[in-house]
Amino acid sequence: MTQKEMHDLVIVGGGPGGLTAGIYAQRAALKTVLIEKGLPGGQMASTDTVENWPGIKNITGQELAENFLTHAKSYDLDIIQEEVTAIEPGLDYHTVRLANGDVYPAHTVIIAVGGSPKKLNIPGEDEYYGKGVSYCAVCDGFFFRNKTVVVVGGGDSATEEALYLAKLAKKVYLVHRRDELRAGMILQKRIKAEPKIDILWNSIVTKINADDTGVSEVELQNTLTNEESRLATDGIFIFVGFDPNNQLIPAGTPMDADGFVMTDCKGETTMPGIYVIGDLRQKYAKQIVVASGEGATAALAAAHFVEAKKGSQH
Ligand code: NAP
Repeated sequence: MTQKEMHDLVIVGGGPGGLTAGIYAQRAALKTVLIEKGLPGGQMASTDTVENWPGIKNITGQELAENFLTHAKSYDLDIIQEEVTAIEPGLDYHTVRLANGDVYPAHTVIIAVGGSPKKLNIPGEDEYYGKGVSYCAVCDGFFFRNKTVVVVGGGDSATEEALYLAKLAKKVYLVHRRDELRAGMILQKRIKAEPKIDILWNSIVTKINADDTGVSEVELQNTLTNEESRLATDGIFIFVGFDPNNQLIPAGTPMDADGFVMTDCKGETTMPGIYVIGDLRQKYAKQIVVASGEGATAALAAAHFVEAKKGSQH
């Protein structure tokens, strides 16, 4: 175990929220470290195209993630690739523990760890993960060139990813449990205009079957008639929302019924100096631009918190 020196701010998570917080913290001269267990960029990095980041009409998620990272590094933000195992609130300072044994004491902590894809929890889903079951079209779509795929879900993610897959696959079936999509109107129009995509309304996938080469068919059920059917497919991409990654949130922090963390308008939790931003924070819209705005807000609030704390100690 290595006890690190006191930091003004530890940011946990390197998606758009965390990286923006890092940029603002460096500009505010806070002694900051950002800890990310995977590659910086978060969900943004595995998104095909981003068309609602103001100022750039169209950019790949990967490129936008690289831009965020380059920008943060231009301010010499200290970025460590390691898993955080615990965040312990304290009266004097907070403690962030890493899987490698390192321990960071900090005046403030910004938690920006987002969510993970929700599962359907149906037979075959875990068994054939990586053998035709996927939660990332940009990562795995390449393997389905000129093949048939099923996409499950009716939100922005499912429709965006179905459109991406339609560029590669021979046929895409979008399976949605209702008769109306949840996705925004632009995506709805695009998906209905794409000849390679057929929407199977009022339908759920109940089972995934495979042969020696991987996924071979899905079993479907009509939600209105309960009628069952089978559909041959080479793969299934599941985009039915996501679960908040709230495992690191200190006990006693208020969350809503779905596990999203409640904060004040600064992103501050009921623990002074601990902030939650981005998709893990309870809010109306989960967007890159919103996560980024929350990162900026929380970093400015953290700077004010640190200044007030240090001022009161003199
Ligand atoms: P979402 O908006 O929560 O949509 C999930 C979809 O999956 C819904 O259509 C839902 O059906 C369906 N679903 C949920 N559980 C299901 C189950 N067990 N079986 C079958 N279907 C199920 O999730 P998302 O699309 O991942 O988006 C998450 C957030 O990120 C949203 O706020 C979204 O706007 C945002 N986002 C934005 C963009 C963009 O702006 N370009 C891109 C991606 C994501 P019902 O409709 O019947 O509930």
